[in-house]
Amino acid sequence: MSDEQLQRLVEQISLESFGLSFNHQACFNKRLRTTGGRYLLRSHNIEINPKQLQYYGEKALVGIIKHELCHYHLHLQGKGYQHRDDDFKWLMSKVGAPRFCDVIPGVQNVTKTLHRYQCLACGLQYNRKRKIDVRKYVCGKCKGKLEKK
Ligand SMILES: [Zn+2]
Ligand SMILES: [Zn+2]
Repeated sequence: MSDEQLQRLVEQISLESFGLSFNHQACFNKRLRTTGGRYLLRSHNIEINPKQLQYYGEKALVGIIKHELCHYHLHLQGKGYQHRDDDFKWLMSKVGAPRFCDVIPGVQNVTKTLHRYQCLACGLQYNRKRKIDVRKYVCGKCKGKLEKK
């Protein structure tokens, strides 16, 4: 299946299952590994893992497309488009999309906590991006000693 055929398939599923048109790009992305597909928040494009079609066939491909279209339409409508949102769960069951998990770039929290500390006196936990010197810094609440976790 070519990108062009995929594009037409996505447009068709969008109209049939959602009653709405798909006005962006859909393409295969060979670099996707564990995910069947993904919806890109910035470009509104949909990428599909070609292995999905190879290994699981067209039925699974349609499922993935429906799933990504749930993200797509809800996002454009300003509704809850994330897996945990009720809008999303509702739309998924309505169109019969599988609950495949995929990555949505742009949603992930990039500021990862790298260092965790805990006050030995009151137990308060601190998450810091940078390392702190526990000999110099004490708990902001009780002045207790901090310990790296
Ligand atoms: Zn998803
Ligand atoms: Zn403390």
